[in-house]
Amino acid sequence: MVDLIEITGGYEKDPDVEKLDLSNPAHVKLALLSQGMRFHESALLPVGSKVKEKIRSYNSSDFTKIVTVPQELILGDDIVVGTHWRDESPWEIAAEDEGFALNYDGKRITGVGFHDRPEYYDREVVKGIPAKRIGVTLGMGAVSFFMRETCTYWEGAQPCKFCSLKATQNRYGETEQYKNSDMVRALLSTIQETGDHLHHIQFSGGSIWNHDDEFREYIEAVKAASDTLGRRIDGNLITMPPRDLSLIDEAYAAGMNHISFNLEVWDPALFKEVCPGKDESYGRDNMIAALEYAAGVFKNGTYTTFVGGLEPLESMFEGWDYLAARGVAPAFNVFHPTPGSIYQGKKAPGVGYLIEAAGKLQDVYQSHDFEGLLCKCCNRNALDNEAKEGYFK
Ligand code: SF4
Repeated sequence: MVDLIEITGGYEKDPDVEKLDLSNPAHVKLALLSQGMRFHESALLPVGSKVKEKIRSYNSSDFTKIVTVPQELILGDDIVVGTHWRDESPWEIAAEDEGFALNYDGKRITGVGFHDRPEYYDREVVKGIPAKRIGVTLGMGAVSFFMRETCTYWEGAQPCKFCSLKATQNRYGETEQYKNSDMVRALLSTIQETGDHLHHIQFSGGSIWNHDDEFREYIEAVKAASDTLGRRIDGNLITMPPRDLSLIDEAYAAGMNHISFNLEVWDPALFKEVCPGKDESYGRDNMIAALEYAAGVFKNGTYTTFVGGLEPLESMFEGWDYLAARGVAPAFNVFHPTPGSIYQGKKAPGVGYLIEAAGKLQDVYQSHDFEGLLCKCCNRNALDNEAKEGYFK
């Protein structure tokens, strides 16, 4: 089992960067997702006071010993990209006269910004527990509850190979191991008092072997959120599907508008290789059947994430077309190596791969009228919103 934090890195010049239009913020995002970035110390000064710091609720993709880094970066048009620190990246963020600049190989490309630190982070919402240990704001206003910081697949030595949940918790321990619906209620009430941004709510967490029990816990959390806010919940419920598919109807009835069961890759043999735990506990074909069922309940609100870079484009595109025809939107997250994952030594996909994938994604989203998950000011590691808005063609 891999649980070491090994700081690696490496950068080879990618000639496909020259194909990008760096005046297009979605193209810059694509490059940063491929090549990572590093921060000059001048850009780190406000992090943790004025600027929102990264809180690692489940993964850390930073190959650095520096702990306090921004959660994300704001590019043009409010497009946001997650921080993925690589010491040898050609992209550097540094302070300039007014604000911050993003430089590529020492040349200024664009001004960038950071999201303010939410006021609720330091409020005590449950006795002795600050809010930031329960919920974390992603991007401008997507509040994420990672309900369980353990996963049955790690316990059984069958984690998804890109996942660094265990190593991240061992190293940082920045969030509570378990959250419950009372904590969800308390935190959302606090955000209502502080007035911090709250566009979306995301529920996710490690799995347990009994997927019906796992799913029921999410239903309780969704109910807590919708009761507290007095409305249905836009965002994402990311989980393994239940065996009893009627629970999917209950999740919708509880107030959730979007749901994801993540296949990660399409090819059946690769699924077994990348996600051995999911393969054994539920199985790829059953997951696809559950997605099709969900698409009949969460109409235009059912997603499955693909980890871009783990399989050839042809196979991934076959999956996108198959699922899209059945009402399931492919969400496209870009693979980033994370210290402590089995794939920590793999590289993120090159720019050429991402340009092709983003173009295809745009076709799929526009022809099926899918909405991107969250929004472009909240969704950090995916290109769905930018594809929907037509940034890639
Ligand atoms: S289901 Fe996979 S990605 Fe999610 S926490 Fe477990 S091992 Fe990690």
